[in-house]
Amino acid sequence: MITVVGSINIDLVVQTDHMPEQGETTLGNSLSIFTGGKGANQAVSISRLGKETQIIGACGTDEYGKIALSSLKKENIKTDHVFLVPDVSTGVASIIVSNSDNRIIVVPGANYLLTPEKISSVKDEIVKSEMVVLQLEIPPETVQAVLEICNEYHIPTILNPAPMDKFRKEFIDLATYITPNEMECISLFGENMEETLEQYPNKLVVTLGDQGARYYDGEKHVYINSYPVKAVDTTGAGDTFNGSFAVALTEGKTIEEAARFANASASLSVEKKGAQTGMPSYEMVLNRLG
Ligand code: ATP
Repeated sequence: MITVVGSINIDLVVQTDHMPEQGETTLGNSLSIFTGGKGANQAVSISRLGKETQIIGACGTDEYGKIALSSLKKENIKTDHVFLVPDVSTGVASIIVSNSDNRIIVVPGANYLLTPEKISSVKDEIVKSEMVVLQLEIPPETVQAVLEICNEYHIPTILNPAPMDKFRKEFIDLATYITPNEMECISLFGENMEETLEQYPNKLVVTLGDQGARYYDGEKHVYINSYPVKAVDTTGAGDTFNGSFAVALTEGKTIEEAARFANASASLSVEKKGAQTGMPSYEMVLNRLG
């Protein structure tokens, strides 16, 4: 089983032809409600690939929490250890989309109440995992608590350092794999990517959007070329990469094989609109790998 410890959000997406200016009210064309949050997205990616998956997170006791939990259950994800926190809203991303422009406000809500104390109470669940996957949409002290438990029990971890402002230097030694995108890698570790990768061999795996991914294996730089696909929506590409990388690693694949698998999986996800819609099944990834 893979455990994701991370955020659960509801994305409220309003589509409009005209982005409102300050003080202006405009008509929208549609409202769509999706389950999102990097934690939930990565859990969906893992579960679609047929791996037993659980998510540890926090929701409010509001209707949005119910919607999020029911959609995670439909994806076959174990939600028994999602904390229901009263008097706070479930995490919500309020998204206005107008042509190619978008404006987003994220209310972390219950996600920020996933405290280290709550993590202590589910330690037994965490230590049962084959691998634990984390992002930074929950408090950094909680991420640290999970990484420390996993370290103590020799459970491999993947830390996707997004959003990067919550990153702590201590995470570098604690996490088994760290998977920033190119921009995050440069901001966190400096301009010289070659040097950075050489400093963290077989740990730092950098995703490069339509250029694929890269890492350093201790002797040479390994480049994973992306697939030339027609990208319709790249939202969730990183989440698909991380979830798929986790699944492949738990199957005993090498880092290179796992990164190739994740790269193929993420290339499928960008061909469909929406973060979770295009997340593929195992068979689809194998077909793409050829
Ligand atoms: P996002 O925040 O949009 O979810 P990210 O910035 O975390 O993504 P990226 O590096 O943009 O991560 O993309 C992750 C992976 O998705 C890449 O390593 C690659 O495998 C795949 N990918 C992304 N964009 C494309 C594309 N246009 N064509 C093919 N593959 C892509």
